[in-house]
Amino acid sequence: MNAKILVVDDDPVVLRTTADWLERAGYQVLTGKSGQEALARLRDDKPDLLLIDVEMPDLGGREICRIVRANSNKSFGFLPVILMTARGDVQQKIQGLELGADDYLIKPLNDLELLARVKSMLRLKSLQDELLSANQRLQQVNEKLSELSMTDGLTSVYNRLYFQKRIGYEFQRMQRYRNPLALLMLDLDHFKRLNDSHGHLFGDYVLRHTAEVIRRSIRGVDIAARYGGEEFAILCPETNLSQARIVAERIRGNVEHAQFRQEEAQAQVTISVGFAVCPHDTIGTPEALIERADQGLYQAKESGRNRVCTVLPEE
Ligand code: GH3
Ligand code: MG
Ligand code: MG
Ligand code: MG
Repeated sequence: MNAKILVVDDDPVVLRTTADWLERAGYQVLTGKSGQEALARLRDDKPDLLLIDVEMPDLGGREICRIVRANSNKSFGFLPVILMTARGDVQQKIQGLELGADDYLIKPLNDLELLARVKSMLRLKSLQDELLSANQRLQQVNEKLSELSMTDGLTSVYNRLYFQKRIGYEFQRMQRYRNPLALLMLDLDHFKRLNDSHGHLFGDYVLRHTAEVIRRSIRGVDIAARYGGEEFAILCPETNLSQARIVAERIRGNVEHAQFRQEEAQAQVTISVGFAVCPHDTIGTPEALIERADQGLYQAKESGRNRVCTVLPEE
C-alpha cells in the first residue's frame, strides 16, 4: 500500500503545490490548514509521515512536534516529522530538531529535494516499524521460554527447579509477615505396580490426570509442582495446620474418586500425603519444611497409604 503523508500549512498555495507533487509521485496525501487540524488528522488517519509548516497562527510545527513526541508510544506510534520553514532561520531549525523533528526543509520547496527527503524518512519509518515488530516477536518468544523453563513437560504443573526457587521466596514472606505457610508432599501409591500392569504410557497418563485433579483441588494462589517421578509438592501460602489438612484431604479424596481411564485401560489410583506448616520453632529453613512434610508422607505410607499425615515435633 502507498504511504500516507499528512501535509499541513496555513498557506493554501504551498499546501496545494506540495500535495500535488507528492500525489504525482504516487503517495496518498492528506492535508490540513492548522495545528488543530493536524492533531485531528494524526489521531484519526494515522499517517506514516508528517510534513508541517513551522509558522501557523494557532499551533506551529514545533508545538505539534512536541505533542507527537510526548505521545509517541500511546497514540502515534513512530511518526517521522519534517518541518518546513522560511529560508535561513537557523535558530528555528535548531529548536525544531531539539524538539524531535527528523528533518528540515527550507521554503520555497524544491520538488526533487522534497521527494528525496520524504523517501528517506519513509524508509526510516519502515525500518522502525520492522524493529518494533521484531521486538514484539522477541518478547513473545522470551515469555514462552520463561514459561517453559519453569514448567514440567509431562504434567504442565511447575517443575522442581521453579518449586525450589519459589519455596525460598514464600519462606521469606512467611518469616517477614508471620502468615502461615503450608507444604504438602504427595506420592502416588504403588505406582510401580500400575506401570508394570498397564504400561508406562498409561502411567504417564495417570501422572497427567493426577496433576489435573490436583490443580482443580487447590486455590489459584497455591503452587503445585512435580517434585519427582510420581511425587508432587504443593505450597499453600496463608494456610494453617487445620486448613492444610482440609486441602490435603480434599486432594486425596478427589484422586481416589477420579476416573482414570484411557482406551481399554483403567485403574484405581490413590495417593499418600504428608504436610507441614510454618512458622514453627523447629522449622527454620525451607529444607526443614520439606523434610518435615516428607516425614508425614513416610508415615502415611507406613500406616497403610491413601491417607494424610503430619508429624508434629516431640514434646
Ligand atoms: P509407594 O506406594 O511406596 O510410593 O510405591 P511406588 O511403587 O509408587 O513407589 P516407588 O518409588 O518404588 O516407584 C515409583 C515409580 O514411579 C517408579 C517409576 O518407574 C515410576 N515413575 C517415575 N517417573 C515416572 C514417569 O514419568 N512416568 C511413569 N509412567 N512412571 C514413572
Ligand atoms: Mg505558515
Ligand atoms: Mg509412589
Ligand atoms: Mg515415590
